[in-house]
Amino acid sequence: MKRNYHYYSFDTWLKAVHGEKVQKISLDANSGCPNRDGTISKKGCTFCDAQGSGSGLMSTGLSLLEQWQFWREKFAISDRLKHTHLFLAYMQSFSNTYGSARRLRLITNELQTLKNIVGLAIGTRPDCIDDEKLAILSKLPWDNTWLEFGVQSMHDKTLQRISRGHDAECSKQAIIKAHEHGLKVCVHLMAALPGETEDDFIETVKRVCELPISGIKLHGLYVCKGTEMENEFRNKTYVPMEKQRYAELIVKALTIIPSHIVIHRLCADFTGDALVAPEWASQKGSVLRQIDELLHIQGLWQGCNADVPNKNPFNEAHETSSLD
Ligand code: SF4
Repeated sequence: MKRNYHYYSFDTWLKAVHGEKVQKISLDANSGCPNRDGTISKKGCTFCDAQGSGSGLMSTGLSLLEQWQFWREKFAISDRLKHTHLFLAYMQSFSNTYGSARRLRLITNELQTLKNIVGLAIGTRPDCIDDEKLAILSKLPWDNTWLEFGVQSMHDKTLQRISRGHDAECSKQAIIKAHEHGLKVCVHLMAALPGETEDDFIETVKRVCELPISGIKLHGLYVCKGTEMENEFRNKTYVPMEKQRYAELIVKALTIIPSHIVIHRLCADFTGDALVAPEWASQKGSVLRQIDELLHIQGLWQGCNADVPNKNPFNEAHETSSLD
């Protein structure tokens, strides 16, 4: 059956840029976070799963190079990935640009020695970046360097409630600065944050789309063991969103995201046993299918309420670039 495409996925973007599949390799640089080490706070964001945030490989003493080799050897014996030979370094744990510019330079120098690396997606907080660090990232030799900011919400009231330790203006300024340095900016946003309505989330999506971003990553809040959110969930002051409503909300968000913005993620990819709720946070495939189905049934696509109201451009883009 012919597949329909309703949005501009990161995989599609990678294939269009590199002409073939690019596999992400998660790397753990043992980074810290000012919202956990006492610089801002010791508690962290109320949803932060301190144990689960890293891939854990750095804590085993493996260098970035050794982690890279570890994953490449695993992929080499996988039926699905054994023919893949282009890789993207994917650094998402904690705040990877936290600390000195010298530390970031050492990390990026090591990344440049990795075999078959075609790019980098590096995650951080918007308050962990400055001109010197942006200059280091902007001089990396790949066209494919993404700086990912944990923005979560553009509502200061919510940011205070989740003990984020920065405000919306900080996110805005970081996005603008990174763009001015020529970096591709991807923002992480969370749906179903405590105290937020669905309209608040849509308002956040609208506001980040008015900024110079190239990518967006959406997921719902999931409650992990040992977090402040677990207390809120147990004492019933926080009720997670149902799967169907989440899918509907994401569809609504997609319709207002302009068609040039790359969709890096539409739901969490939760593994491990730290999940408390909602149960569906570990069912990525099923959530994505539900989102696709809703888009299809309702005749909607990314940007249909923004820059491309008349025709879904994503099927055509696939046909002309012969992408899977
Ligand atoms: S910024 Fe990230 S690592 Fe730091 S406390 Fe918040 S969720 Fe945890």
